Amino acid sequence: MHEDRLKNLNAKPISTNGDYVLYWMQQSQRAHYNHALEYAISLANSINVGVVVCLGITEKYPEANLRHFGFMLQGLSETQSFLHERGIKFVIKKGSPPEIALNYARRAAAVVCDRGYLKHQRQWRRYLGKKAKQQVTQVEGDSIVPVEQVSDTREFAARTIRPKIHKLVDIYLQDLCLRKSKKNTLNLEIEGGLNVRNPEQVLSNLSVADDVKPSQRICGGTSVARKKLQYFILSQLQGYANSRNDPASPQCSELSPYLHFGQISPIEIALKVKSSKSGSSQDKEAFLEELLIRRELAINFVFFEKDYDRYSALPDWAKKTLHEHRNDTRPYRYTRKQMENGETHDEAWNAAMREMRETGYMHNYMRMYWGKKILEWTNTPKYGYATALYLNNKYFIDGRDPSSYSNIAWIFGLHDRPWKEREVFGKVRYMNEKGLRRKFDITAYIDRVDRLVENKKTDQ
Ligand SMILES: Cc1cc2nc3c(=O)[nH]c(=O)nc-3n(C[C@H](O)[C@H](O)[C@H](O)COP(=O)(O)OP(=O)(O)OC[C@H]3O[C@@H](n4cnc5c(N)ncnc54)[C@H](O)[C@@H]3O)c2cc1C
Repeated sequence: MHEDRLKNLNAKPISTNGDYVLYWMQQSQRAHYNHALEYAISLANSINVGVVVCLGITEKYPEANLRHFGFMLQGLSETQSFLHERGIKFVIKKGSPPEIALNYARRAAAVVCDRGYLKHQRQWRRYLGKKAKQQVTQVEGDSIVPVEQVSDTREFAARTIRPKIHKLVDIYLQDLCLRKSKKNTLNLEIEGGLNVRNPEQVLSNLSVADDVKPSQRICGGTSVARKKLQYFILSQLQGYANSRNDPASPQCSELSPYLHFGQISPIEIALKVKSSKSGSSQDKEAFLEELLIRRELAINFVFFEKDYDRYSALPDWAKKTLHEHRNDTRPYRYTRKQMENGETHDEAWNAAMREMRETGYMHNYMRMYWGKKILEWTNTPKYGYATALYLNNKYFIDGRDPSSYSNIAWIFGLHDRPWKEREVFGKVRYMNEKGLRRKFDITAYIDRVDRLVENKKTDQ
């Protein structure tokens, strides 16, 4: 494992009388291809103890609702069994994640954690590093190239980050071997622990917002993610470069929910796609442009921009032009509620909203169109931004992710350039219904959403 993935969060020593190495799992919720877990096992083997993994489920997690918790618990249920098979005790508890980690750290020789890039994730890790009495090491395993190695600044656009990532990718895109724990911890006496074998039961005992129901179409878990990856490589990668944009017959991986919850590693995905026999080199390149460049541009944005979830983080040219056009007559105006209910004049937009509301996912091209129309149909750009982010994070399983913040901001000009000036949008890129209908069979897209929602047909 490359040492650039490791960072000590304090200067404290490894304790000589600890019972285990603790891995506090938070971002990388998987038992395979998990750099933090494998590092914890190596460290534990070197001091002759075993590994205990802990995870805290907080009902106060920012913007999380039943849909998000349901997907997460399905994944954790599997992770618990996989860790069990590897002889590793996994304790899951309700409560503040860093406090739970601190509690289990009391008996640990050392603590290992994974890396998350959002404000609260970073704050939790700082707190743990400060409060824990022993060494805390953070291991970065959910980006292909570690964020600080790519750049030391907020990048302007894909074109500026692309050469930096390409220069480094071969150094970090390396296979990860599974280590064997010398000591089994399954019989260690450790208090607490939720049994997540039955995710629905745990879900029914959580006191969380329940206005968004779990998706019937998209199930959580590493095995589902791996099956989707295999299906994608075998039957969708060929032609991805040309067809990925068509929402009527989508040709994409649908792996974003699993990446968001750390149920699959981006490194595993990239290596499998690169080494697959299917797909041309253009198809593979196009896929890596999304998984590696666009996804890690989003990570760069939230890492270097403290206001990544605010309108103020938009580039100055975009804020200026949107301000100049704030009083332009909108062709249509809708309230947030009308939008949320899919009650606009535009059937394609309503179908996209329906797909999002009912299934928790939407095709990338429709996400772009959906967002651009929110900018066009709300009273002010600031309200449009807040509405788009609110809906995005409420309904998408992959919402509340670095890619959520960067892409909602993209609608309003981030990582883009000025275009020809027009009403409402100013110089921000525009999309229209005519263009959408000219390029794709939108009636087929609407029919597809109807079928998905009625659950008559899943894609696979
Ligand atoms: C308005 C808007 C809102 C969005 N909100 C989110 C969100 O909340 N969460 C989220 O994960 N993505 C978001 N995206 C980015 C993108 O639409 C999704 O990542 C993609 O549609 C996921 O589908 P997929 O896994 O089939 O993608 P694939 O085409 O199979 O791509 C593979 C992977 O590449 C990454 N990727 C693809 N497109 C992008 C992109 N534009 N930016 C960053 N990473 C990308 C994803 O991790 C994806 O799983 C948003 C895009 C827009 C325009």
